[in-house]
Amino acid sequence: MRVKQFRASSMKECLDEIRRELGREAVILHSRRYRTGGFLGLFTQTMFEVTAAVETGSALDSRGQLSPARPLAPVLPAGEVATARDTAIGKELAELKRMIGRVVDQLDGDNGHQRYPTAVRSLLEILAANGIEEELREIIGDELMVRQPLVAGPATQVLGAAMHRLVPRPEPLAAATGVRRVIAMIGPTGVGKTTTIAKLSARTALFQRRNVALVTVDTYRIAAVEQLKTYGDIMGIAVEVASTPRELKKALDAHRDKEFVFIDTAGRSHRNSGQMSELRAFLEAAKPSETHLVLAANTGQPILDQILQAYSEVGYDKLLFTKLDETAQLGCILNTAYRAKKPLSYFTVGQSVPDDIREASLEWYLETMLEAVP
Ligand code: GDP
Repeated sequence: MRVKQFRASSMKECLDEIRRELGREAVILHSRRYRTGGFLGLFTQTMFEVTAAVETGSALDSRGQLSPARPLAPVLPAGEVATARDTAIGKELAELKRMIGRVVDQLDGDNGHQRYPTAVRSLLEILAANGIEEELREIIGDELMVRQPLVAGPATQVLGAAMHRLVPRPEPLAAATGVRRVIAMIGPTGVGKTTTIAKLSARTALFQRRNVALVTVDTYRIAAVEQLKTYGDIMGIAVEVASTPRELKKALDAHRDKEFVFIDTAGRSHRNSGQMSELRAFLEAAKPSETHLVLAANTGQPILDQILQAYSEVGYDKLLFTKLDETAQLGCILNTAYRAKKPLSYFTVGQSVPDDIREASLEWYLETMLEAVP
């Protein structure tokens, strides 16, 4: 296998270079966006880095099709009844075909978009380069075809409208006063729940001068409790620690007077059903007004799908995406929100508390994807 890292000022340039050097069989292993150059944070340039690999002696032809001359699995004797092995090979081939389809699609932006006029096609290519799945691109493409001739204005505006039809309108925290809100953050370990709570509580307590308390049920990691307490101390906000659902209820009762109470939960492995039912018990006791499932944008789509599946059993109201600064492909956000049929609440774009957070907006999301294009 040959692995190589490519750097360019746009994702498209990286993909073109990969296609030129490694061919269409190349698989993207990792991609990230980073900033370079500049002085004191000014005049920096966004760059893209993609690590791609190609199997040496691959069984794919130049169009990414399986070569008939080199079958991947031995052919079974004629007339043999289908066996379990047959099925397994069939499944593997189907999976392989799906993967190849995705990679070819990613590398060959206009694949499957030929039926659209150039303007629509180039927008769809940008979405493909960002990892937005084919089903969504087709819906958006068709919408652009129907709507664009009717709407005066740039295609990007129509693209924004099409995205709004795919996912619910974003819902950050309501700013209304006088309504008590208990907000729980759930999600895997390390995605940025505690940091996000620090950012949001700074906004509400310091900028909006609201009455805020924090409760952590993250008792697995002492460091996590300390982390939240440190943020609380700096901002002058009370922090409670609860190790059982009962204690959580007590802590919430003790802060009945607060307008905003943020609950930080321990990161759970979506594969550990015991941990997931423990989390459900905490949420049942807390009865939060809203629960945000926190996901990192630099997580691969298959893992995001598994997380979504596991957390759908626990229940949540909104999706909050972190680490947008650590990925060059933002498509997973739209793919996931479309699958979950839940509104996005916030995007976080760096480690700085309280600056690196913004209310989720499809317009900003779209602009960010488009600005990465030369
Ligand atoms: P938790 O386990 O889900 O509570 O995650 P933490 O809040 O402890 O965050 C884990 C790591 O991710 C820390 O190093 C954070 O600084 C970092 N982090 C959180 N949000 C972001 C973000 O938006 N961008 C980047 N680059 N790092 C982040």
